[in-house]
Amino acid sequence: MILAYKISDIKNFLQAQKAAGKRIGFVPTMGALHQGHLSLIEASKRENDITVCSIFVNPEQFNNKEDLAKYPKDLDADAKMLESLGCDAVFCPADREMYLKKPRIKISFGKLEEVMEGIYRKDHFNGVAIIVAKLFHIINPDTAYFGQKDLQQFRIIACLVDDLSFPIVLKDMPIIRETNGLAMSSRNSRLSKEEKIQAGVFYQSLKKAQKALLEGVSVAQVKNSITQDFKLTPFAQLEYFNIVNRLDLQEVKQIENPKDVALCIAGYVGNVRLIDNMYLIS
Ligand code: AMP
Repeated sequence: MILAYKISDIKNFLQAQKAAGKRIGFVPTMGALHQGHLSLIEASKRENDITVCSIFVNPEQFNNKEDLAKYPKDLDADAKMLESLGCDAVFCPADREMYLKKPRIKISFGKLEEVMEGIYRKDHFNGVAIIVAKLFHIINPDTAYFGQKDLQQFRIIACLVDDLSFPIVLKDMPIIRETNGLAMSSRNSRLSKEEKIQAGVFYQSLKKAQKALLEGVSVAQVKNSITQDFKLTPFAQLEYFNIVNRLDLQEVKQIENPKDVALCIAGYVGNVRLIDNMYLIS
């Protein structure tokens, strides 16, 4: 496995692979890897000749300085995990390698970013889109792998690829969870043992809502019931619980086709922000 810190080094490595006709799979991450990330590496390994993982904590997508400062980092442990899975290359640039200067462009995604994370994390998706576009240009993969965990991010990147004609196939992979249902996340390392147990409430709420909706309870009633539950849950704060169309992410008023619907939730346990989602029918 090669570790490339420079854009020129990863490009040189990949140019030789492409010249040899190899298919390139790409998994962009912010590091502090867990089984969720590793499932994406495994998917890429299955479907490509060469798998590249990037590790870059992108300052442009953090609107909260403290969140950026506290973001967990462990490049040595990450490299070991990637090597043991047979990842071929890790691209782990420094901030100045990716941003010689602060980007000036603003990319807008219209209605897709006017909901959920777009409301609570101002300019977040602009930062995501810029770094993903830069990485796509540098790596130029055949296929890129993302987690359903960041559903809105996936839809935004699908829009970016579509509107700017990147010749890249995108795959969204299932959410990997802890035994209590908590979606794996690098930020979970900031939860205490007790908080990790409490954080299961987000998954339990999604399951409860899913069951009720499939039994015919109305969207308004389900939304109300989950919101009320959180008012009585002192250890967790709800930011939003939205029942949406899984493609355009706009809220639905009633369930017409259950296959089109996703349930999305975000909130805090302690001072750690967590997001999760579930398709009504997978
Ligand atoms: P991050 O390092 O948080 O930027 O995540 C990198 C990629 O891993 C993104 O495509 C995430 O959606 C994906 N990912 C994060 N957590 C999980 C999980 N629990 N299961 C599957 N994929 C995940």
